[in-house]
Amino acid sequence: MTEWIKQYARALGFDLVGIAPVQSPPHADSFLLWLAQGYAGTMEYMERTAHLRINPVELLPEARSAVVVGLNYAPADLPETDYRIARYALGDDYHTVIREKLETLLGAIQAVEPAAQGRVCVDSAPVLERDLAMLAGLGWYGKNTCLINTPRGSYFFLGVLLLTLELEYDSPAHGGCGTCRLCLDACPTGALVEPYQLDARKCISYLTIELRDAIPQEYREAVGEWLFGCDVCQEVCPFNRPRAHQPLRAQPTREPRLQPRSLPKLAEILQMNEAEFAERFRGSAVKRTKWRGLVRNALIVAGNKRDPALRPLIEQYRRHEDPVLRDAAEWAIRQIESCDTDV
Ligand code: SF4
Repeated sequence: MTEWIKQYARALGFDLVGIAPVQSPPHADSFLLWLAQGYAGTMEYMERTAHLRINPVELLPEARSAVVVGLNYAPADLPETDYRIARYALGDDYHTVIREKLETLLGAIQAVEPAAQGRVCVDSAPVLERDLAMLAGLGWYGKNTCLINTPRGSYFFLGVLLLTLELEYDSPAHGGCGTCRLCLDACPTGALVEPYQLDARKCISYLTIELRDAIPQEYREAVGEWLFGCDVCQEVCPFNRPRAHQPLRAQPTREPRLQPRSLPKLAEILQMNEAEFAERFRGSAVKRTKWRGLVRNALIVAGNKRDPALRPLIEQYRRHEDPVLRDAAEWAIRQIESCDTDV
């Protein structure tokens, strides 16, 4: 059954698959300490669901095995845009893509083993996926807190299928960064406060996606041209760089639904209304920011570009009813004006 499940998962398009026993995650204590240090910022759901994250059997009583899968999301080429967007958000929403595949896998397993129960977990079900992925042999923790697979790198989505079946388990993955600290030095906001420690409150991914309020002043310039998410700590990682002896590294995804969609220009985003946003980003992970979050980010990016041509589009938000958008617009205008002064 174990080998059959793995082959089925690969046939569904998963690039990595391994199986771990369901147990309390090895990094449960570090996770609780991370929460206690306030590093989760406004992500209260992390705190609220912490007991489930450190105890996966609460998600599926009698769970014995975790089938952990990885799906490569690296694009062949980055789309041409006048801003940056994290690679994982270029195609269709990964939650849907992975959930559908894992539900197909669960259905196939239950057709063979009708008594088997399962639960699909993709972000929404609070499992510490990375710990289970490490136990299942998919990869090891990098200093950038990403799970790294030595031959393939870290551009992977992870998904977990909890099962009540007893299966054969893989060995945990081993590996490490050695003396490298490229990601810590490259992070624009210093969010990697020490190796393996991410202060999410400083992370551009958090600031542009999770945070609903204004992006704090001290990080606005560092956000640069990142409109949604950030890949800097992965881009600099040697494990994501092609090497002659590592032919699988940085290979483009084979999943059709993860191919990059066409993206609007920054000026178009600044002119979009909520209905147009919903239509344009239907089925995309970008929807998570909602219209207001994306426009806020677009104003910050526009300010960082200091492009006077964008000024009329920014101006309209100076009188907007939303104080977060007004504040971002004022800041962007000051950036453009400071550039005029410099000249
Ligand atoms: S950039 Fe270097 S330190 Fe950071 S995760 Fe990659 S190998 Fe580890």
